[in-house]
Amino acid sequence: MLHPLLFTPIYRRYLWGGRRFASLLGRDLPPGEDFAESWEVVDRQADQSVVAHGELAGRTLGDLVRRDGRGMLGRHAGLPSFPLLFKFLDAARDLSVQVHPDDARGARLTPPDKGKTEAWYVIDAAPGSRLWAGLKEGVDAAALAAALGQGRCEEVLHVIQPQSGDCIFIPAGTVHAIGAGLVVAEIQQSSDVTYRLHDWNRTGPDGKPRPLHLEKGLEAVTHFGPVSPVRATATSDEGVRRLVACDHFFFDEVVPTGPWHVGGDDTCHLLAVIAGEVAIDGQWGLPPLGPGRTVLIPAGLAAQTLRPVGDRKAKLLRVTLG
Ligand SMILES: [Zn+2]
Repeated sequence: MLHPLLFTPIYRRYLWGGRRFASLLGRDLPPGEDFAESWEVVDRQADQSVVAHGELAGRTLGDLVRRDGRGMLGRHAGLPSFPLLFKFLDAARDLSVQVHPDDARGARLTPPDKGKTEAWYVIDAAPGSRLWAGLKEGVDAAALAAALGQGRCEEVLHVIQPQSGDCIFIPAGTVHAIGAGLVVAEIQQSSDVTYRLHDWNRTGPDGKPRPLHLEKGLEAVTHFGPVSPVRATATSDEGVRRLVACDHFFFDEVVPTGPWHVGGDDTCHLLAVIAGEVAIDGQWGLPPLGPGRTVLIPAGLAAQTLRPVGDRKAKLLRVTLG
């Protein structure tokens, strides 16, 4: 009954978005210059990924997780919903400076939501692109509050000029902002609690400043000091480098040198193709997957074989539950 799951992307259109899901990820977008987020895998209340291909086409991720937790999540069965949200972001403008609470603070400040730890993988960085991750060395809560109050937040933020292929891990409680020019893949806890600390002193579409959430936001900042791109580590699986291991997820970069076997280990695997093309062997009849395609391998399936197709080196991201 279960099979590898391809979902229909859910687009979020905001002023800061662009059209690079079309130019970089091969998406067929309707007109508009504001495609900001493409939600690839989500099971959060009304936001539901819908299966696009195969016997389960039309079913939602939430429905599958709640009806067949064992088949979908394996040893993580029993969770009320799929705990992670995976998306692509196209930032044509700087995003606001924000922070997400950790689980304990999230539950207290905005129940029933939890905290949000996230990680970004830079797919493309226009020359000069920046992002902000953490605070400069020595900046404490009082210094941050003073800088925010005086509209000079940028002076206390740690800034990075990332390259494509960089991964930045943002534990809950870390001040952060994605800058103009970046296209990133983001894995995060499926929570929507965001406190906006600073909006670059600009105004929203109605000409007024967008609201800030200074009090709750400052309370949510629990991670001080700068955050640098992660140092990937080798794994026992040749071609797989671990980017992030945290309580909520494992995040890996995969460059298969030949047929690559994945799954069959009682947990689900979320795969996103970043470069090249791969085919999933077997009876599934799935089309080869190129850049920007995401597939979820349910825990109940046997190990699957992915085969690079064509001359271009394939590169994937893989997420498993922590
Ligand atoms: Zn965030």
